[in-house]
Amino acid sequence: MSILTVQGVNKSFAGLKALNQVNLKVEQGKVHAIIGPNGAGKSTLLNCFVGRLEPDTGTVMFDGQSLLNRRPHEINQLGVARVFQTPEIFPDLSLLENVMIPMRRLGRLDEASMTARATDLLGALDLGDLVRKRPDQLSGGQAQRVAIARALMQDPKLMLLDEPTSALDPKISREIMALIKEMAEELNVPCLCNIHDVKLAMEFCNKMIGLQDGVTMFAGPTADMNEAKLDEIYAMEVL
Ligand code: ADP
Ligand code: MG
Repeated sequence: MSILTVQGVNKSFAGLKALNQVNLKVEQGKVHAIIGPNGAGKSTLLNCFVGRLEPDTGTVMFDGQSLLNRRPHEINQLGVARVFQTPEIFPDLSLLENVMIPMRRLGRLDEASMTARATDLLGALDLGDLVRKRPDQLSGGQAQRVAIARALMQDPKLMLLDEPTSALDPKISREIMALIKEMAEELNVPCLCNIHDVKLAMEFCNKMIGLQDGVTMFAGPTADMNEAKLDEIYAMEVL
């Protein structure tokens, strides 16, 4: 069963076709990678699912409802959580408070349940020891874990991640991708992840969509991806 079904999405910016008839299905319990060179349309695509951009044409169905013409907050409330490239950590708040921000906004849990859930999640993400640290003392990888904990706090039905590892070094990038995979499998939170690093995508993602100039060059299981197809997707770029 797919939680997100995207059909025939087109998006142009002043004559430049950023997305050209994009189709996509996100399945339960899997990590889906969107790969492709800079400017391929990866961020534009994700932005069409979170209320930041509206496609010119096409449909975006999430859990039986259209995501079009909705505000970001509303989409968030439906169960779509988002993790950005560089996590936004608020230095004046404690780590726990940082994790609880979206939950406060959604107003679903009382204070005690929220604190308990945030503490559990930080523990599950190996951040338990950091609870007493100041948020501005976190490393890049730790900050990204906090951002993932914050997204999971909302008990999302889908996680969208826009290049979650591009600001991290290779070792930490692998740890973050492993965490994302674990989350998809064990917590059954499907993920759709924009990722520039093909090796990481090949290792940690179950399915891949390869974009070039807004056109889908590949869509299928990672096992079906090969060097020749990658060369085609990244034709304009020296890997
Ligand atoms: P990627 O995330 O794959 O690097 P983007 O989705 O950011 O690619 O961009 C796809 C194309 O659309 C690029 O050519 C980019 O310059 C263009 N683009 C993206 N956002 C805008 C915008 N708000 N206004 C005009 N052009 C945009
Ligand atoms: Mg991008």
